Amino acid sequence: MIPYLDLKQVTASHAEEIQDAVRRVVESGWYLQGEENAAFEQAYASFIGTRHAVAVANGLDALILMLRGYMELGQMEKGDEVIVPANTYIATILSISENGLVPVLVEPRLDTLEMDPDAIEAHITPRTRAILMVHLYGRCAYTEKIGEICRKYGLKLLEDNAQAHGCRFAARRTGSLGDAAAHSFYPGKNLGALGDAGAVTTDDEDLARIVRTLANYGSSKKYVFPYKGRNSRLDEVHAAVLSVKLKYLDEDNRKRSEGAAYYYQQLRHPLVHLPRWMEPESNVYHIFPVLCPKRDALQQYLKENGVQTLIHYPIPPHKQACYKEWNQRVYPITEQIHAEELSLPLSQVMTQEDLETVALLVNSFPG
Ligand SMILES: *Cc1c(COP(=O)(O)O)cnc(C)c1O
Repeated sequence: MIPYLDLKQVTASHAEEIQDAVRRVVESGWYLQGEENAAFEQAYASFIGTRHAVAVANGLDALILMLRGYMELGQMEKGDEVIVPANTYIATILSISENGLVPVLVEPRLDTLEMDPDAIEAHITPRTRAILMVHLYGRCAYTEKIGEICRKYGLKLLEDNAQAHGCRFAARRTGSLGDAAAHSFYPGKNLGALGDAGAVTTDDEDLARIVRTLANYGSSKKYVFPYKGRNSRLDEVHAAVLSVKLKYLDEDNRKRSEGAAYYYQQLRHPLVHLPRWMEPESNVYHIFPVLCPKRDALQQYLKENGVQTLIHYPIPPHKQACYKEWNQRVYPITEQIHAEELSLPLSQVMTQEDLETVALLVNSFPG
């Protein structure tokens, strides 16, 4: 069987260094908010190209605390609107509504699967405060036009970089393109921990300080609580493992990109459509999505022939029961993507032979 993602193999690629890192933490007797967190934060900020990185417990918390930070700083308030792609993973949208802010869903483009920059302006109101871009599937979602809109209307430019660690727009990394960014290091992400982990990156010193405070019960000084915070600290053991894996991220992404280039060369089927090709540095291929009107049959065919695939994602956020107030809305492009998307296996540990098998099978789909 060709698995969708062989995480065991991913970890095994750096087994010794990872085990040394874990052992170092175990033997140190210090498990939270110590040297490993400080070292990873510094390495990650320098990798992304921001002045600050604040490590938190997971990606959803990173998103929630980034927005909450702006609220505590008086730059956003309950009822303010945040523009977000309608086809993102639910976490992006949850972070907005959890803060009492209003998610404003904007349709993606079918050829890029990213929020349509030309559709944004029509959604701006006097309450709009931010555009929260999502570099979904590892594709850079930023365009000059989005930057211009933010400047013209005085909006914050925020990034959900959970799927795009290491991705670039020209010389800059995603995660440093706007005012602040949230990152997830969920195990299956391009940079993944051995459990939950996340971070906020920003050049804004006030925001960094407040996110750090909010993630530690709202405490700035021991037993002094200026804010109603939460516990969203990152374990030292995850920080230590992330510091090891960060060193290999560009190399791992290059391998993904070579696999993706192979798929782009080889995949030829009238019913299988690939998103528009991007320059290799602007796509880190967290996911390799294809669109197929007979998606379920294609998935079944691949499964019967020993290839595991996933769907990202089967139900769009506006059709979820948790957002029942949106269930009657219609977002045709988002709905088409959710009905047709299939994610093919692609990772830094996948062999050329497996890539060939997948490509041949897709091309021979009888559908
Ligand atoms: C994974 C993911 C998140 C959430 O990260 P967790 O660490 O699982 O909380 C948020 N947004 C996107 C786009 C993601 O893919």
